[in-house]
Amino acid sequence: RARKRFGQHFLHDPAIIERLVRSVAPGEGQSLVEIGPGQGALTYPLLDEVDHLQVVELDRDLIALLRERIAPERLTIHESDALRFDFAALADGRPLRVVGNLPYNISTPLIFHLLDQAGAIADMTFMLQKEVVDRLTAAPGGKDYGRLSVMVQYHCQADYLFFVPPGAFQPPPKVDSAVVRLTPYATPPWPADDPAWLARLVAQAFSQRRKAIRNSLKRLIDADLFAATGIDPGLRPDHLTVADYVALANASGGAPESQGASS
Ligand code: SAM
Repeated sequence: RARKRFGQHFLHDPAIIERLVRSVAPGEGQSLVEIGPGQGALTYPLLDEVDHLQVVELDRDLIALLRERIAPERLTIHESDALRFDFAALADGRPLRVVGNLPYNISTPLIFHLLDQAGAIADMTFMLQKEVVDRLTAAPGGKDYGRLSVMVQYHCQADYLFFVPPGAFQPPPKVDSAVVRLTPYATPPWPADDPAWLARLVAQAFSQRRKAIRNSLKRLIDADLFAATGIDPGLRPDHLTVADYVALANASGGAPESQGASS
């Protein structure tokens, strides 16, 4: 029986499962980790492609089931909360590839947790609520473009792969789903001098997304910086590109309270 608090919706449409595994295209010489294997809908087909797989799962009953059915030489089970799991510790020199039909109730914090470890990860292929995938892959100017889009696209190339209807799951979720691929950049195309400061600026900007950017960032950066960076201060936060946010963050040289100390 599916547990609601663990966001359990088990995939049961073989065509969708095959399409997802095909888009991962796992190969030898890679280190593959699945988040939330559940009853193994993706785990078994992934194990058809690779000798060994690691999984991170929280539900003890499901872990017991996997232990019973799959030999430990083929499956390493991390009985752990993915939100706290140290994925970077799994990096062993081979590309670390992360896969999962994620619990939708924790998907945004989980993505931020993974972005913190993006340097150790080759790519991530996730089934998510479609609305979240739309935000991850959104371009500036649209209603889906926000803090999540900017922060994810700062770290990763984000590609929408395909749509998945509720009927592909048991029990069916109330929302549409989609599969996304996030590929962390080795070096971000627009590197921030201080990524934590960038994150703070972006969060502040989108906390007032209807205001002009000069107003939503008033307390954090000097109005002169707009002229210096060539960014129109009258734009709304959802019209600035990732490159614009990085330019503002770098030109402002860090958090106001730390400026005196560092110079
Ligand atoms: N992969 C399976 C499938 O496609 O049928 C299950 C997907 S289900 C949407 C999400 C899975 O993540 C469940 O097995 C659930 O127990 C597990 N899960 C929920 N919260 C978790 C967490 N914080 N850390 C690790 N796994 C979690």
